[in-house]
Amino acid sequence: MGEFQLVIPKQLIPKVLETYHQTPLAGHMGIQQTVDNISEQFYFQNLPSTVSSYVRSCHDCQERKMTKAHTKSEIISFRTPTETFQTWQVDLFGPLPITQKGNAYIFTAVDMFSKLLFCVPLLSSDSVTVSHALFQLVCTFGVCDCVISDKGSEFISQCTDQLCKILEVNQNFTPSFIHHCLGLCERTHRTVAERLTPYTKKGIQWDNMLPAITFSFNISPSDSTKYSPYEVVYGFRPKFPLSVSKLGIDLNSLHSDYHSYMNQQIDKLKLIREEAVTVVNAQKASEIMKERENKKTNPLELNIGDFVYMLKEVVGPGKKLQPKYAGPYIVHEILSPHLVKLREKDSGKLFKNPVYLDRLKITFVRARIRPIILFQYQ
Ligand SMILES: [Zn+2]
Repeated sequence: MGEFQLVIPKQLIPKVLETYHQTPLAGHMGIQQTVDNISEQFYFQNLPSTVSSYVRSCHDCQERKMTKAHTKSEIISFRTPTETFQTWQVDLFGPLPITQKGNAYIFTAVDMFSKLLFCVPLLSSDSVTVSHALFQLVCTFGVCDCVISDKGSEFISQCTDQLCKILEVNQNFTPSFIHHCLGLCERTHRTVAERLTPYTKKGIQWDNMLPAITFSFNISPSDSTKYSPYEVVYGFRPKFPLSVSKLGIDLNSLHSDYHSYMNQQIDKLKLIREEAVTVVNAQKASEIMKERENKKTNPLELNIGDFVYMLKEVVGPGKKLQPKYAGPYIVHEILSPHLVKLREKDSGKLFKNPVYLDRLKITFVRARIRPIILFQYQ
């Protein structure tokens, strides 16, 4: 944690919220993650609840994030690694809409210890291209002990096999029909797609956004370790555009040499990683409980006049980067406990067909923020 938080005046709260939630480096991250990142630097009254209602009412998030998606619990059939960059889960994501540069796939690798994400945009999914990406991974983080993937043709090819043999990397496969074995990658793909969509729908090429979105993922505390991957790897939190920069150099905090710096760094990392492992172990135990609770479904209670989003049926090659919900619409009439009639928000036009409740979710509407007037001229 930093030493001090900067107390910021009311007028600047919207700027901080915007920077820490919807800029590409923040990538529309979730409530708790946004709260953590902001309170690292800043203080204002009711910070958690202000941030929470800001994020909950974000149109981009509500339109894309699947609220009903049940996270399949990860079947841990592989030994949990004890160090960073020991074991990577690799996968391909796509096909995605082809960009101007010709990219159509993303090679994703997640370090199973720190949950650090590494992404490479790919022109195609053939085994040579994928092997290049795998080599890039090794060039960035060193040779690992083991690479886990599904049995996709690009991973079982001779090319990948030879590369792994030369580098002395073990290849491990999950049976492709037990897809939830690769839970970590699957969840990562969902998050990456969710975070890319607000930008791609504005016409921005997804491969241009990928580095920022990868960064936003790596600075978000992971559900399983409670630390951000970045922190587990580097031992500190990264600077952000509005981060308070220290004025001048504090001579007392200077390290006398690299050796003392390294010692301090090692101690810090040891502390973080030990704690991350403890959290992961505790998490595994509570996972079964959560799974049970997930199965209890809460029926949606709606009233006439409520704002709702409706689940769309997205088809076509670009579907992975499309908003999943349309709206917001207004509940016009409740026909039965399962069926409602909707109308358009602006035109008031009625929907011809009634809609099933399980396709709807409540919209959180953001109160309009008054414009900031810093100076008033007479
Ligand atoms: Zn958002």
